[in-house]
Amino acid sequence: MDLVKRCVVKPGSKLHLRDHDPSDTFGVRRNDAALQKRLDRLSELQHLLYADKRYALLIVLQALDAGGKDGTLRHVMSGLNPQGCVVTAFKVPSAEERSHDFLWRAHKAVPERGDMGIFNRSHYEDVLVVRVHRTVPKEVWSKRYGQINDFEQMLNENGVRILKFFLHIGKEEQKRRLQARVLDPTRNWKFSPADLEERKYWDDYMKAYEDALRKCSTPWAPWHVIPADHKWFRNYLVAELIVEALEGMKLKYPPPMADLSNIEIV
Ligand code: ATP
Ligand code: MG
Repeated sequence: MDLVKRCVVKPGSKLHLRDHDPSDTFGVRRNDAALQKRLDRLSELQHLLYADKRYALLIVLQALDAGGKDGTLRHVMSGLNPQGCVVTAFKVPSAEERSHDFLWRAHKAVPERGDMGIFNRSHYEDVLVVRVHRTVPKEVWSKRYGQINDFEQMLNENGVRILKFFLHIGKEEQKRRLQARVLDPTRNWKFSPADLEERKYWDDYMKAYEDALRKCSTPWAPWHVIPADHKWFRNYLVAELIVEALEGMKLKYPPPMADLSNIEIV
């Protein structure tokens, strides 16, 4: 089964999130051993990406609160070499960040060739939270889709491969997870009253996400809708998609710097 085809947002298509079941598992049966194999393969490929040095891989993770960004990161990165992998969390912009264009902080965090970079939230917040809360006028945010596409295209033309994942949870599942943060003492620290406030804007967020995914899924930086109610499936799918993308790069170990045939180490 072609997992990519099932979740990639076709450029120019009219995506409706309501047609995507957050509890879907695409008929895949849970198999932790198979998942571990994918994570092992991911680790090998990361090594190759690092050695090859022609490309960087940028992974953009977006989700609503309790959508599973942290869990995905923890899981998918568990086998990776921390040297060569950088995670950047995008929070409310600082005064310095606000005094630049909205892509400035994202550009600064783009991984160098040979590295994997993960954006935990991203420049997409500037067409999501900002739009939902009307922080900037429509004339400003509506131009950003094109600006994002141009930015991502420029990165792609400079060796940065981009994969974007929207972790799609259902409203009920979000309720369960927020509830768990209230009830479970080991998760209390994760509970923020702000998350309840944001939950009231669920429908607005769905619209904003639909627009972002429709307008900014491009051949050079595709969006994927990841059914994320089941954590094991979310992890499996994200790992699989990253492995496929890395395999598609035809990475190679560079040739040795010198003729090794006559070298004798004494
Ligand atoms: P957690 O799962 O730990 O809650 P989080 O990503 O929600 O992780 P928080 O510190 O709770 O982290 O929230 C970061 C907040 O910053 C989010 O509400 C997000 O919408 C907001 N944010 C990010 N980028 C922007 C932006 N460009 N403009 C305004 N708000 C932003
Ligand atoms: Mg939060």
